[in-house]
Amino acid sequence: MRYGIFSDIHSNLEALERVIEELETQKVDSYICLGDIVGYGANPNECVERVQGVAELCVAGNHDYGVLGKTTVDNFSGRAKEAVLWTQKILKKKNREFLNGLPLTQKRDGTLFVHASPRDPESWIYLITMSEGMLAFVRFQEKICFVGHSHYPLIFTQGKKGFGYFQKESFVLNPETRYIVNVGSVGQPRDQDPRAAFTLYDTETQEVQIIRVPYDVETAQTKIRKAGLPPSLADRLAAGE
Ligand code: ZN
Repeated sequence: MRYGIFSDIHSNLEALERVIEELETQKVDSYICLGDIVGYGANPNECVERVQGVAELCVAGNHDYGVLGKTTVDNFSGRAKEAVLWTQKILKKKNREFLNGLPLTQKRDGTLFVHASPRDPESWIYLITMSEGMLAFVRFQEKICFVGHSHYPLIFTQGKKGFGYFQKESFVLNPETRYIVNVGSVGQPRDQDPRAAFTLYDTETQEVQIIRVPYDVETAQTKIRKAGLPPSLADRLAAGE
């Protein structure tokens, strides 16, 4: 089974279409979305509809819940809050209902899928430090957990010799190690690489690959500016931040 796992689309249709195109080329059997379909970008309805059309499993992100009023946006930055309010105005009822039906976690083939951290999915914890990684491992049983949220591809491990973390484009799972894999962000990468990110997981070869694809950043930026969203949300796409 080949899984295509992607997260943090953030209403960026150009990046999403490019990732789906690449997943089709890679002959993926199942598409899994780790949430934050909306927020920041200019095409929330199109992105929700496209994800709904392709994803076998999908979980909710904090921006999805924020747009629905299911989680507080008090701790969001000013520009993130503005984008949430803008999205609330233009999101169609049926797309709102789709987001409202998304669970916080999904499981498949001994694998856990969650937007933020398995430690407490609804607290939207950022898994970026070793100590957070260690706390997360004790809160799930599966061998591997895929996450998004930080927009930063990173792999945490728990093995016989303890805990660790690394960044790598591809690796083969060690049978005696557990993993938390951050799949990166489709629509707003924050690792200084503006290319859209997603992850392939092959359950037969046990290989995990984090793949980057360039997309039409300029069109996504133009749409953000035309929509009247904060211009810095367009600028950051080109810088990958
Ligand atoms: Zn996000």
